[in-house]
Amino acid sequence: MRIPEYHYLVFEYIHKFGLQIHPFINETPEEVIYVNGVKTRARIYHRQPDILQYPVAPHEAWKTAKHLFNLAVKPIVDFINKDPIRNWSLVVKRFDKYSMYTFLKFYPHEFGTPFSEGAIEMMAVLLDLEGLMEESFLDILRINMPLVQTRFYQITGGNARLPEAFLPQVQEDIVFQQRMSKIVQYKNGVTIHSIHQSTLEPYSVTGDFAIVTIPFTVLRFVEVEPRDSFSHNKWKAIREMNFAISTKIAIEFKSRFWEREGLMGGKTVTDLPIRFTYAALGGNSISLKRFFCKREPKVSDSTVF
Ligand SMILES: Cc1cc2nc3c(=O)[nH]c(=O)nc-3n(C[C@H](O)[C@H](O)[C@H](O)COP(=O)(O)OP(=O)(O)OC[C@H]3O[C@@H](n4cnc5c(N)ncnc54)[C@H](O)[C@@H]3O)c2cc1C
Repeated sequence: MRIPEYHYLVFEYIHKFGLQIHPFINETPEEVIYVNGVKTRARIYHRQPDILQYPVAPHEAWKTAKHLFNLAVKPIVDFINKDPIRNWSLVVKRFDKYSMYTFLKFYPHEFGTPFSEGAIEMMAVLLDLEGLMEESFLDILRINMPLVQTRFYQITGGNARLPEAFLPQVQEDIVFQQRMSKIVQYKNGVTIHSIHQSTLEPYSVTGDFAIVTIPFTVLRFVEVEPRDSFSHNKWKAIREMNFAISTKIAIEFKSRFWEREGLMGGKTVTDLPIRFTYAALGGNSISLKRFFCKREPKVSDSTVF
């Protein structure tokens, strides 16, 4: 799990609890690329992008997937960063109608022309966008702004140290296996009703406020009383919020064999079903995590060591 540098609240807590962090190595020149039946290293692809044999247009030759993507997207990101509050809303108005695919295919970017099918395919495969091409361009822009500029970090000793650091203050109040079933709001308080997942015993807790952080997709199944304690637009957002499917799988090996291949952090990329694989550094970890992002009808996969 990579913590992007713009997750300011997370970093406030990291500092508050005195936790150590180290950079997450997102990419290295040694990472392996295996696509279109061609196996190479990133440093070779960066010098010679046509080694992967994508049928790009002549003016796109000698440009990597990231370079091409940034030609179209970086000017928009730079514009947002000049004045994020004002400019995000302008960008939303301008690009609301584009999917990721139609943006790459039809938006006349700074380079002077939209991209060829070959270039779009190369970006989709190498930048892990293949399962997201029908999704909103603006959603992908939010996710992929990191491709343009962000640094990532990990908590030394494991990211679990962050939730564990809260324990001394909240341990007594944590209840496990409770599925919230109902929220009842009063003038001066709120009661959360829940059901124990194994015993099916009902349980409730009352307080001044409730911070509800379950995803909207499951909040849809929770009763709320009175109904108008959520605004009309909040109900609409709860109903309409959509999620892409994404899963992470951990596989443990006896040894960190990838390090013998020169993979010290960074990732491997392939158009085989395993898709993206990230090698984690630090500790004695010998685990491999597989993480794949899937959106029907297309499938894109990422893997994390
Ligand atoms: C495969 C994958 C990889 C990711 N990698 C990264 C990464 O590298 N860096 C990054 O910053 N982000 C990453 N993310 C995104 C990150 O995991 C999410 O943004 C984050 O977990 C959202 O936190 P949350 O608390 O809002 O929701 P969640 O983490 O989904 O927590 C919601 C909780 O609510 C509980 N719940 C649901 N219904 C009920 C109910 N009725 N009653 C009680 N509890 C309920 C669930 O069990 C869950 O524990 C990744 C996500 C996925 C899926």
